[in-house]
Amino acid sequence: MSSTGTITRFAPSPTGELHLGNARTALFNWLLARRDGGRFLLRIEDTDAERSKPEFTKQLMADLTWLGLGWDGEVIAQSQRGAVYREALDKLERAGRVYPCYCTPLEIEVSRKSQLASGRPPRYAGTCRNLNDTQRAAKLAEGRKPTLRFRSTEAGRVEFVDLVHGEQRFECADIGDFIVQRADGSAAFFFSNVLDDALSGVTTVLRGEDHLSNTPRQLLIAMALELRAPTYGHLSLITAADGSPLSKRHGAKSLRDLREQGYLPKALVNHLFRLGHSSDLHDLLDLQALAAGFNPAHLVRSPARFDPVQLEVWQRQAVHALSPAEALEWMRPQLPASLDAASASAFAAVLHQNLLLPTDAAFWVQVVFGELPAHDAEGTALIAAAGPAFFGAAAAAIRTHGTDWKAVTAAIREQTGRKGPELFKPLRQALTARRDGPELAPLIALMTPARAIARLERLSS
Ligand code: GLU
Ligand code: ZN
Repeated sequence: MSSTGTITRFAPSPTGELHLGNARTALFNWLLARRDGGRFLLRIEDTDAERSKPEFTKQLMADLTWLGLGWDGEVIAQSQRGAVYREALDKLERAGRVYPCYCTPLEIEVSRKSQLASGRPPRYAGTCRNLNDTQRAAKLAEGRKPTLRFRSTEAGRVEFVDLVHGEQRFECADIGDFIVQRADGSAAFFFSNVLDDALSGVTTVLRGEDHLSNTPRQLLIAMALELRAPTYGHLSLITAADGSPLSKRHGAKSLRDLREQGYLPKALVNHLFRLGHSSDLHDLLDLQALAAGFNPAHLVRSPARFDPVQLEVWQRQAVHALSPAEALEWMRPQLPASLDAASASAFAAVLHQNLLLPTDAAFWVQVVFGELPAHDAEGTALIAAAGPAFFGAAAAAIRTHGTDWKAVTAAIREQTGRKGPELFKPLRQALTARRDGPELAPLIALMTPARAIARLERLSS
């Protein structure tokens, strides 16, 4: 079923930062294009001049790059394409498929309310559909600025197969005549969106479910322009664990937030891959493997629940998989600037598998290079139970055997009769103020045996 002809795209409006929902949309389109050896395009839908900001465009391009979702060819910006839209609108005008509508927003709103009040679904009442030239001139003379509406009512019905939701059927009478050009002369979203897709040869559009009801309008426009519309798949919403729309309140963060916190792109793409897309691939995979395993037929209709704990599971695996050099890069902001290169590398290598986020390194920086943090109650009890003689023996063992860990533990065992957890737990507590963490031997090497001995001797009397 593969086809190198597959062209997908991501078409964000640069009116805010990307969050997990947008990122998933971008990811799925990217995976589909890469799976098929096709193309993945980036189009910036910046026609809303007031809300669109160049810094959001810059940011989202940086976010996509960080995730590893590179695009093919030039980025298209809709703000630069007014002439293209104008030409297509002219064509529809000449064909009589659109007409000027002089109704004000207030008039439309009044009509909408009265339809709702009488239990009818609101749609354009057709007020301006059959005006003659004299009537139009009179409306213009009143200073009204017309929109252009698409004559959809004649078309009967629109049917299409959605990749996620299956067969869809919309009656044109229910759609009503809709606006394709705003009063300020700019093309409406439905219009520029489908026109650009068709002109770029986009074959498949995966996008949010909130756009499903726009699709019949877009298909009508494409048909009227004799253009080939893409196949659509509308992705289920991502919700919070309680089923409500994901929001900041649920800890829904922008990609920038997540990146700044130290989440790894690999963790995010692995998590997103399984949000609303069922898969029997359970390992941490790179993008190439995710692309090979992506299947639009496995997109799920029901809302996808975002579980921050699940993201943490992927993050742990992704951190685990870092090479020592990558680990160092990842946690470098947390390391003391004065640390020499060799110690920094060794520290990162020893520690990174125990961390979720780079900030978790702060505690261990303190343990290894600073003052020992205070023991908690359980730790204090553990130290008391082991007793001064145990720590005296441990200090002596390190003094004699340095970082030869086998020899150190053998000596402690011989002196104290303690072994296994009986030996390691109090030792770890005394040296790190914790009962879990990275391997002790390399930690002692990093903190230096002298410092370890001092910590143990303090407890030996
Ligand atoms: N600019 C639209 C959005 O961000 C694009 C929708 C689509 O992908 O067609 O929602
Ligand atoms: Zn009107």
